[in-house]
Amino acid sequence: MSGLRQQLLRTDASGMPLEWIDYRQAVKLHSLDMVAYDLGDPILTIRGGINNESHQSKIILHSIIATHGNHQNRYCLDKGYAPPVSNEALFQRDDFHCMYCGDQFHKSQLSRDHIIPVSQEGEDSWSNLITSCTRCNTHKAGRTPEQAGMQLLAIPFIPTHAEYIFLQGRNVLADQMEFLRAHFPRTSPLRDRLS
Ligand SMILES: [Zn+2]
Repeated sequence: MSGLRQQLLRTDASGMPLEWIDYRQAVKLHSLDMVAYDLGDPILTIRGGINNESHQSKIILHSIIATHGNHQNRYCLDKGYAPPVSNEALFQRDDFHCMYCGDQFHKSQLSRDHIIPVSQEGEDSWSNLITSCTRCNTHKAGRTPEQAGMQLLAIPFIPTHAEYIFLQGRNVLADQMEFLRAHFPRTSPLRDRLS
């Protein structure tokens, strides 16, 4: 049992990963009879009194739950969808490594680098953004890697929704990790990351 702060992975009824939810949202889904089936290990037992509409005196929450109903973020599963960029997810994508010098840093020492600089009409998109330490970023300044004589250590990629969920995860459990991984593209660079 992992405690009340553990995130649960919610999928649609066909098992496509949708989002992280907390135990309150999971209890609510149970009480609304929206849980189709449990997929992951049992992680938490909630006893009665949490939700008065529920007739169950005890709800066992699992690490992954498949739910009925239309999900407002269903479009995230569409082909060609790109999740929103945040520094946190970007640094996670690059595993907190500077993509120029290759060293790993704390997030406070990292920055978002536009490979093609904004001043040269570079976009704020996953494929034009890379994690850089502040030192390399300062050195690169308003130049492209070619202009600055710097080499990119990896090709930036646009995460799929399943990859993005993984990148956003906190304390991702082993079964959740395995489940998400099965939904990653075969060529996903994140595959090697999971231990
Ligand atoms: Zn660096």
